[in-house]
Amino acid sequence: MNIQTVGVVGAGVMGIGVAQNLAQTGHQVILVDISDKILEQAKQEISKNIRFQGFFNKSEKTENPKEVLQRIKFTTNYQFLESAEFVIENTTEKWNIKNQVYSQLDTICPKESVFAANTSAIPITRIASVTQRAPKVIGMHFMNPVPMKSMVETIRGYHTSEETIETAKKMLAQMGKECILVNDSPGFVSNRVLMLTINEAIFLLQDQVASASDVDRIFKTCFGHKMGPLETADLIGLDTILFSIEVLYESFNDSKYRPCPLLKKMVDAGLYGRKSGQGFYAYT
Ligand code: NAD
Repeated sequence: MNIQTVGVVGAGVMGIGVAQNLAQTGHQVILVDISDKILEQAKQEISKNIRFQGFFNKSEKTENPKEVLQRIKFTTNYQFLESAEFVIENTTEKWNIKNQVYSQLDTICPKESVFAANTSAIPITRIASVTQRAPKVIGMHFMNPVPMKSMVETIRGYHTSEETIETAKKMLAQMGKECILVNDSPGFVSNRVLMLTINEAIFLLQDQVASASDVDRIFKTCFGHKMGPLETADLIGLDTILFSIEVLYESFNDSKYRPCPLLKKMVDAGLYGRKSGQGFYAYT
């Protein structure tokens, strides 16, 4: 039987995309965040994104944002997650936040529910350790923007069971996605490489070796990448980049992961990239 009711925790950049993708593929979604203001913004953003999708995919049947939004319950009350068959967690990349979120989820959600952590770098085994259901915890590292990216880096924690891996694959298939399964390690495959690349690109900018657009142009025109590292950083969110590289630094105790001072300064100044309107580039 298909998974029908899915809890999505965190309604930021990723939670919005996950909730939209789930609702567009016919699921009932319970989207939880900490304030009504954030949830209202999430609603607006999802509506805008669906209209945008319709604009670009002229060949596909256009969806009515209202119909999609009707499948999402926007709430600050975790108690609604007691009916969630599967939970995808997308809260801030900070261990103190995720630690508290998982303890709460563990007491409220049905014992059979799988918890999928959409984290950039925090080890899945560490997340599982604060629950009483380690075999049912898995990593699902979605790519941004979620509705447009078909591949998900999926992470097997130390205790993740085969049954949970199968359930996660089924969940992803229902969302129209495939996965690449990897073993647990801070940053997994993608972000152990990507976060270092982005951090080094920021050092290049700080050292005035090249402008932001020239750094990005080298990756696009010389290597054929669709986006350069600094554009990618703006898309992800500079706060999330900083938190992720801090997780890598603490996890490996290796100085190669020390965050670039310019990255710290930009985050202190509120320059988070696309989501704040200004990062390495300006967004209107
Ligand atoms: P974000 O800062 O845009 O959103 C995080 C959301 O979590 C915020 O809306 C915040 O209010 C909410 N939150 C904080 N504490 C909460 C709590 N106790 N309960 C419920 N909600 C809470 O961050 P994001 O970019 O959406 O990232 C979310 C997660 O996804 C992070 O772990 C990040 O590393 C990971 N991730 C991000 C990207 C990306 O491109 N941005 C890609 C893959 C994975």
